[in-house]
Amino acid sequence: MDEITEFDFENRIVSSEFNGSDGDVENSLRPKRLDDYIGQTKAKDNLKIFIESAKMRADSLDHILLYGPPGLGKTTLSYIIANEMNVNIRTTSGPAIEKQGDLAAILTNLSEGDVLFIDEIHRLSRSIEEILYPAMEDYALDIIIGKGPSARSIRLPIPKFTLIGATTRSGQLTTPLRDRFGVLLKLELYTPDELATIVKRSASILDMQITEDGAYEIASRSRGTPRIANRFLKRIRDFALVKGDGKITGELARYALGMLEVDELGLDNTDRKMLEAIIKFYGGGPVGLETLAATIGEEPVTIEDVYEPYLLQIGYLSRTPRGRCVTRLAYEHLGLPYVPNTQNNQRSIFDE
Ligand code: ADP
Repeated sequence: MDEITEFDFENRIVSSEFNGSDGDVENSLRPKRLDDYIGQTKAKDNLKIFIESAKMRADSLDHILLYGPPGLGKTTLSYIIANEMNVNIRTTSGPAIEKQGDLAAILTNLSEGDVLFIDEIHRLSRSIEEILYPAMEDYALDIIIGKGPSARSIRLPIPKFTLIGATTRSGQLTTPLRDRFGVLLKLELYTPDELATIVKRSASILDMQITEDGAYEIASRSRGTPRIANRFLKRIRDFALVKGDGKITGELARYALGMLEVDELGLDNTDRKMLEAIIKFYGGGPVGLETLAATIGEEPVTIEDVYEPYLLQIGYLSRTPRGRCVTRLAYEHLGLPYVPNTQNNQRSIFDE
């Protein structure tokens, strides 16, 4: 098991979660208008209609829930919505709101039509969610005054606002909260073509030269995630300056990503080790999420939100009711002989 200690989840260049190195550049690369927001055609087309209709009615937008893995553009889209509606946006996150009073203060300070963005909304506590229900439905705060038998509840009106909730796991939202969103939009992993467009746009903002081939090389290794594509671009710029003439070509991108140990599909050592651990210790699976998490020393939610979506999308991992299984494609990619797991195809001794 000693290999397992080599996992370094925190510092993965292919992690889709925000990390300090993304810094201010991430903000400068955020598109400001819906027309500059690349991909997510379905979500965008729907939003265009809702925004136009709200503007025609001179009303605020319905509450919107955005869900999908990290780094796909949920925060970006929320800023764009506020921008397109010409209103202010106030941002916070589920874990940052600790007391009912914190949320009450935020709500009473909003102006008519404002957007309130709550990231990781599935992490709000139950008691805080209860403040949100009347706020979302009736634009009101129910406040209890006094204690014991003399306690009474008063209702304070608050400005009509639009709540935009973002979550990586819509399944963890309570039903009463989910039901109060008028619009549910799922963000999908991006195609290599869309990511190449994002990479070229980012390169031009950062004043970097990149060839078509270079953009595609980065796009095809970015695990369907714009945050990873932008991070690669920044790191490859260093290689382009030191090892080349500053221009990012396909050859240079291949060299740099090779140095960063990201393979042609965007898998890094951690992915490879996770797949190998399932093969080595559990015969390719099925292995339960909790067991897998304990084996590789990671939180189950991180595996589900950050590592799995891409491995599932490219068909290297499958999810069965009994746990995760590595597929034949992954064995081939790792150069390991494929041995179908007898547990997957359990036969009874009476079959003989
Ligand atoms: P999330 O909130 O889903 O974790 P973000 O909105 O913070 O993701 O996006 C991460 C980065 O990816 C941002 O810097 C943004 O510039 C870029 N990005 C995301 N979606 C798009 C898009 N559709 N077009 C261009 N850039 C995007």
